Amino acid sequence: MKANITKQLADSSLAALNFDNCFVRELPADPDSSNQLRQVHRACYSRVQPTPVAAPQLVAFAAEVAQLLNLESAACEGEEFAQIFAGNQLLPDMDPYACCYGGHQFGNWAGQLGDGRAINLGEIVNQQDERWALQLKGAGPTPYSRRADGLAVLRSSVREFLCSEAMHHLGVPTTRALSLLLTGEQVTRDMFYDGHPKEEPGAVVCRVAPSFTRFGSFQIFTWRNEIEQLRQLVDYTIRTDFPHLGIHGDVSVTVYLQWFEEICRRTAEMIVHWMRVGFVHGVMNTDNMSILGLTIDYGPYGWLEDYNPDWTPNTTDAQGGRYRFGNQPQIALWNLVQLANAIYPLIQEAEPLEAALQLYSDSYQQGWQEMMAQKLGLKKFEPATDLLLTAELDKVLQMVETDMTIFYRKLADLVPTDDQDDDSLLIPLLDAFYKPEDLTEQHKGQISGWLRTYLERVAQDGLSNTERLQQMNSVNPKYVLRNYLAQLAIDKAEAGDHSLVNELLQVLRHPYAEQPENEKFARKRPEWARHRAGCSMLSCSS
Ligand code: AMP
Ligand code: MG
Repeated sequence: MKANITKQLADSSLAALNFDNCFVRELPADPDSSNQLRQVHRACYSRVQPTPVAAPQLVAFAAEVAQLLNLESAACEGEEFAQIFAGNQLLPDMDPYACCYGGHQFGNWAGQLGDGRAINLGEIVNQQDERWALQLKGAGPTPYSRRADGLAVLRSSVREFLCSEAMHHLGVPTTRALSLLLTGEQVTRDMFYDGHPKEEPGAVVCRVAPSFTRFGSFQIFTWRNEIEQLRQLVDYTIRTDFPHLGIHGDVSVTVYLQWFEEICRRTAEMIVHWMRVGFVHGVMNTDNMSILGLTIDYGPYGWLEDYNPDWTPNTTDAQGGRYRFGNQPQIALWNLVQLANAIYPLIQEAEPLEAALQLYSDSYQQGWQEMMAQKLGLKKFEPATDLLLTAELDKVLQMVETDMTIFYRKLADLVPTDDQDDDSLLIPLLDAFYKPEDLTEQHKGQISGWLRTYLERVAQDGLSNTERLQQMNSVNPKYVLRNYLAQLAIDKAEAGDHSLVNELLQVLRHPYAEQPENEKFARKRPEWARHRAGCSMLSCSS
């Protein structure tokens, strides 16, 4: 069964969506349009139709994302919207397709992966002349679904929808989410792959980004020695997504290198942001790395609660911890090396690629230092003193269970005064400790020791307390999508109550504001959530 094409639309803003499907128009297509599993050669995509579902029902939509597309909010609440964004109907100018890409999964080359449960609807050019690609996640099988069903469940869709919007409002480069709909159908999932399959409500998220091209989109061509197609995709990407590199006609090796350098810089910037807010992606495979340096593919991600650089929420990765919080900067570099290998045939020289990879390391280091200076309310990162200051902080934060988000937020409240004993110095920070009663005199001494050094360092800068507080509170969020909050929203949504999804969406639009009325969403993880599935442990099963 195919989705219907809607010719007559009652809603004027849906009718006015301005499609310009550059990707399918300019890039090589798979000539086969059947929806059968296959290896797809010499093509960037395969045409495929979303699978219609029983009863689309809106759970939530993001008004800002609708605005980006020039869609009115009222349109998003209507029946036509629900039908279209659950995959039942197509607008006349939509031209749905699934992309072919490969990737390294957990360090091993996995061959062809592709959009196994994502179907692109086309690209919209908005009134500001911005290009936005629309993609349904969970809209049914594609030629790339391998052994899986192409579907998504409410649990993982709530997580993707809320987190991508939360990340955007935190200032982290990310794909966006327009809508979250129930399909009215049940989907079977074995959440921990342990022989306990369960029926869960099916859902579809509409993701929005300038492009969904991944590192793996290039790798697949090089692996297959399809260099002509590799060149086509690289040239297209530079022309469409990096227009400031100013290419016309044939692209020179110089431009390819400038492009790769920019990817290195953007990736470094994205990782610095993750480290700033305590985000752990969970599956940094090369197919989950955006060529635009956007956070993409929200699966078993998590937020650091107690600060622990070795933590990963992904149970599939629990043993090796490849994608643990503190390893993300190294993994991004490893992934960039794979991309460098993939574009090597167009460049044929290793040295400039190595130089660009060095640029990643340098940009990351510089970006990290600037970010830490901001988090600590310093005018500038002074390596002579601040390398030690931050290294000591890293130890202090791990001495006892300390909530990263609350710690930085409360640190801004500290006021340099003389003659404070250890206990009174710690008072503003007590809320950040999971078990304040476990703080021994020795811990207190060490933490206060660091705080004293920190306050002396702050005093050297001469910023007023208000200035420092403002600087810190603009980069240290008060509200993040804590793992247990997402789970509470899921629990309610699974019981048919979508209010918490919508409430969190609103709160997370202003993560740096105090929002006294929403204080409860800034609280540290409650004890019940410590070992609960979904709160501290997740798997790729979604
Ligand atoms: P991930 O690492 O979760 O982004 O997914 C790795 C690959 O598996 C991608 O090619 C996905 O499209 C595919 N995949 C994940 N879940 C499903 C599913 N339920 N049905 C089909 N393909 C899937
Ligand atoms: Mg993926």
